[in-house]
Amino acid sequence: MTNSTSLPALTGEQLLPLLVADKLRHQQHDYDHPLRLAPLPPCPLCQSDVTKQTFTLGMGDLDERVLTCEPCGHRMTYSLRVAEQLQGQAQRLAVQEEEQPVAAEATEATELTFFTRVMEIFYLSDNREDLIWHVTDGRVHLSVNVSDIFAWGGADAEEITPKALPVLEKAWEDAKAIGQEFLMAPLYAARVRGERPQGAAYPSTAAAQALFDACGPEREVGLGNPRPVPTPVDAEGGR
Ligand SMILES: [Zn+2]
Repeated sequence: MTNSTSLPALTGEQLLPLLVADKLRHQQHDYDHPLRLAPLPPCPLCQSDVTKQTFTLGMGDLDERVLTCEPCGHRMTYSLRVAEQLQGQAQRLAVQEEEQPVAAEATEATELTFFTRVMEIFYLSDNREDLIWHVTDGRVHLSVNVSDIFAWGGADAEEITPKALPVLEKAWEDAKAIGQEFLMAPLYAARVRGERPQGAAYPSTAAAQALFDACGPEREVGLGNPRPVPTPVDAEGGR
């Protein structure tokens, strides 16, 4: 048996990262992610990488334990009682650390799903040229190009956010239902804005006009809306 009384004793502060790492490794082991297994914490005495930790009973107090780090071979004692007092704190820190990368991954995955779905809808509805984007502060923003849809002679766009995705889905569904999928983009914008398009950009079938009429109040003809809504034609005759 070793005489542990001459070994350095770890403080609670030195012990805490060891406990957090131990909990992380156990959590990750439970999830069967061997590739993601966190490395062992460095040796508290020399800070060198550790490939193996061994815990043995000490020779001092009943609650004394000895930790041996390999390959540096450093040995140190710690108090089991202190370790137990730190368990709750270690658990909270481990959960925090475990959640952070998962949350980041989830956000990226959600974002990718969102981009893919938006592009798919514009592709399937043959509206590809109406999907525009810009990058601001390192983030991609998608918009639908609605230039000349709401106002005469102006560049205009309506952003598509993940929150508004259901509105885009519904606009596509409704445009598809009347056989005029190309109306998906302006219908989306009209619904988000609660505004009807200008008369010059109004669709000509009764079914399509009914969808746009429901988006907002009737607009007066005048500046910005120089033309009246066309008299509806039957679905066979127009688009
Ligand atoms: Zn060491």
